[in-house]
Order: sequence, then C-alpha cells, then structure tokens
Amino acid sequence: MKPTFIHRLINSSFEDPSLFIRIIRERRAFLFDIGNIYRLKPGDLQKITDVFVTHMHIDHFIGFDTLLRALLRRERPLRIYGPSNITDCIEGKLRGYTWNLVKEYPLKIKVLCIKGDKIITSSFHAENCFERIDNGVSDFNGTILREPLFGVKAIQLDHQVPCLAFCLEEEFHININKAALIERGLPVGPWLSELKKAIREQKSGDTEFIISNRRYKLEELRDIAKITRGQKVSYVTDVSLDDENIKKIVELVHDSDTLYCEAYFLEKDRGRALERFHLTAKAAGKIAREAKVKNLIAMHFSPKYRRQPETPEDEAIREFKGSTS
Ligand SMILES: [Zn+2]
Ligand SMILES: [Zn+2]
Repeated sequence: MKPTFIHRLINSSFEDPSLFIRIIRERRAFLFDIGNIYRLKPGDLQKITDVFVTHMHIDHFIGFDTLLRALLRRERPLRIYGPSNITDCIEGKLRGYTWNLVKEYPLKIKVLCIKGDKIITSSFHAENCFERIDNGVSDFNGTILREPLFGVKAIQLDHQVPCLAFCLEEEFHININKAALIERGLPVGPWLSELKKAIREQKSGDTEFIISNRRYKLEELRDIAKITRGQKVSYVTDVSLDDENIKKIVELVHDSDTLYCEAYFLEKDRGRALERFHLTAKAAGKIAREAKVKNLIAMHFSPKYRRQPETPEDEAIREFKGSTS
C-alpha cells in the first residue's frame, strides 16, 4: 500500500520535538509542533500549510520565526492551530519585529485557538503589518480540520498549562487493483487519479471517464479501486502523568499506524515526571499497548539520559511490546 502521509521527526529525540508530515499528491505538508526547524529544507518549508502546536513552551514554538521568514512571499495562507493562549503568543511574536516594508507581501496567517468547546479564529496579514483581526467563534466538536481526503482531531490535556494532542486520519485508502486493470485491458494513466478523486468526493455512479477514446461510467470502474482503512498518525507530547489525561490519549490514538509520544523521563524518575508535568517512557509504552497502535515512536527525551546505558526509547518499547523483564 502506497502511504498518503510520509512522516518523520525533524530532530533527534533529545532535541526539540517537531513532526513533519508530507501529504503525497498534494505538494503540501503539516507540522506538529514548531521547535527548532532549521534542518528543514527551503522546499519543505514552502509546502507547510498547517501547523498544529501542542503548547507554547519554547522547545515547541521557537521555530515560528524561521517559518514566518521563509513564507513571507508565499501566496498560499498559513493556518496555525493551538491551545487557549496561541493567538496572544503569535501576536506577541509578530509584534517583536518592525513591519513597515511588508505591505506588498501576500502572506496571510490564520490562527485557530481551541478553548473548551469553542474555536476562536483570528488573522494576521502582511498587508496590514500583521495587525490582529478577530474573525469570530465557532463550535469545537473534536475535529479541527476536515477535508475530503483526511481530518485532524484534537484533544485538550493538562501539562499544568493547556496542551493539545492530535491525530491525523485518512478517511479511507484507495489502492488500484493492477490485476483487474490488466484483465480488462485498461491502460495506466492520469485517469486513475481522477477515478480516486471522484470516489473520495463521492461523485455519482454516472460520472464519466474517457479512457483510450472510450467512455466509461464510474460505476463500471469501481472494481479497479480497492478501498481499505485509511492511515492514522498521532502526536502526543508534554502531558501530566494522570489517569484522566491517559484515558483521553488512549481513546484519541486508538488503532494508530504510528504514535509519536513523549517519553521525557525514565520510570525510575517518576517523581520528577510528576513535578515537571511529563509522561514517563513506561507510561508512553503502556498507552501505545492499550491503544493497540502498530508502531510507537518514543521522542522528546530529557538530555540527562544522553549518556546512560538505557534510553527512554528502550523502556518505552519494552513496555509497548509487553515484556515484563
Ligand atoms: Zn517540551
Ligand atoms: Zn512543555
């Protein structure tokens, strides 16, 4: 199965957390947290249309300036989603510069702040020297982005401050049945992308396709497309070690193909984890196991474990795989 989302952490697990997800076929990418992102290539920065910020501690937010600078001349707007104080933090960052020479620049930033059961939307446009515009309030029902191909869900957790966790979920996955293509003597071509698009958009069975100068109806081509479960990638970090948080996380990330989860402290430093409002590696492994995720990527480790024989990754994976040793 060709994946729709290609995902990778930008930095090592001892550095700032930031997850880069490319959406294949859309020349577009998402960023989950925006710590130090100087390793991203200019071409990758240009693809970012949506940034999902868990909270604005400096290790999760310092890369905003890098992205802003790279996108100033971009026509495509940038959307940023974050917890209750995201808009003030972005306004504060934008106020930190002088903007008298950007009125010709096209960049528009839309900020969606998730607060309780509301989404509060604001905008900042280069043409207005990034003055804040308040756009209004809508209801938050758990989903913050919905498109024909996928959706992004968010939950609100506690890290002494509000902190979001996210999951990106493909509606369903469409594979082309090559054997059926050959059997029916149909050629490979751009019509296959159009067919997938029509199925995703739930076009009527009468929708026509022209293939090698012959007309076909969508209905006649359905057996070419094999529909399977969509891809699911989840991202959870900086969360207090408490039962309520963990219950909400397990529900959100259930059945993920990949879960990126913080493992800041080892279980032997549980007391420290509680004081600093972080998960332990063991808790990350347990969450992944209970949520039946296929693949756990433990991340965001305290630098103090750099030279220790056992890393938080070892502990998280051991717990995830269910070994009691
Ligand atoms: Zn952090
Ligand atoms: Zn934090």
